[in-house]
Amino acid sequence: IDFGFRQVPRDAKASMVGQVFSSVASSYDIMNDLMSGGLHRLWKDRLVESLRPFPGQEHLDVAGGTGDVAFRVLRAIRAAEIEERITAAAGGRTSSGGRRPPSPSSPSTDPDKNTTDTNAASTSSTSSTSSTSGTSGRTITSSSNGGRTAAGPSTAPTPLVPGRVVVCDINPEMLRVGQQKAAAASDIAGDSGLSFVEGNAEVLPFPDESFDSYTIAFGIRNVTDRRAALREALRVLKPGGRFMCLEFSQVTQPGLRELYDMYSFTVIPRMGGLVANDSASYQYLVESIRKFPDQETFARMVEEAGFRAVTYESLTAGVVAIHSGFKL
Ligand code: SAM
Repeated sequence: IDFGFRQVPRDAKASMVGQVFSSVASSYDIMNDLMSGGLHRLWKDRLVESLRPFPGQEHLDVAGGTGDVAFRVLRAIRAAEIEERITAAAGGRTSSGGRRPPSPSSPSTDPDKNTTDTNAASTSSTSSTSSTSGTSGRTITSSSNGGRTAAGPSTAPTPLVPGRVVVCDINPEMLRVGQQKAAAASDIAGDSGLSFVEGNAEVLPFPDESFDSYTIAFGIRNVTDRRAALREALRVLKPGGRFMCLEFSQVTQPGLRELYDMYSFTVIPRMGGLVANDSASYQYLVESIRKFPDQETFARMVEEAGFRAVTYESLTAGVVAIHSGFKL
């Protein structure tokens, strides 16, 4: 079967993606570990480390599935908030009363720029675009606003406004698995700053300028209209907000590429058949990885959508890449 996107009409792709993730939802996490040899955990750790979560951050994780990235971001935000409280209690200066927006222009604080595998893409400076919100989504588990209060005057110590993380995914079954995982994790169970929202990356159910940061991990590859998803990411970000995408990319080293292809096309569908009883879904996943644009091409797409200071970092010889851009 050729699941190639050129042969599959757009709406058929969306429904096929829906079927694939409904089918794999319950075995998704274990398959991730098996297929990547646990590497997906390190890639996600790196994504969150590069994001540098800060106290009070309002974060959106799109195509968030079972919550792997969102939970990491939430934990990092809470850790930063505790640190901020300790600093304040010790009489030190807190950064911003709970808001420290990321900076695109400070190499000394940007770990992306200091790694051997990093490959910076170009930056340019045409104006960014913004559109208005489209549809409304269905909140599966909603939370309060995490107890946020308005920021006080700059002279008085500002009460810390807790951050929040929204997991958004088009597939309710993936979200349900994510909710179960959150409920079972003692450190985030009951955290009122975590919510799960069913929604499409192409028409996000959030108002303009709602979030400080946006991540999409192993998700944009599955979206039918990627340019629409990028435009939506820009729309829902606040000015200065950061977009980050972790996605399979292109291994360019000869020899390694052939080896990787062999592994992907033979081992993964078989593993999917054995563990998830669904080799066709995993065949689709492998095909979609192969068709995803290379690092430079995707960086250009991110820029064309209106993001600035666009960079990328290749990990594991280009098996995956993290792209970053700012709404400036
Ligand atoms: N981000 C998670 C992770 O890294 O483990 C899940 C990644 S999973 C490979 C891809 C997810 O993208 C699935 O949960 C799927 O339902 C979701 N997805 C596919 N198309 C989408 C769309 N148009 N809008 C939102 N989510 C979408």
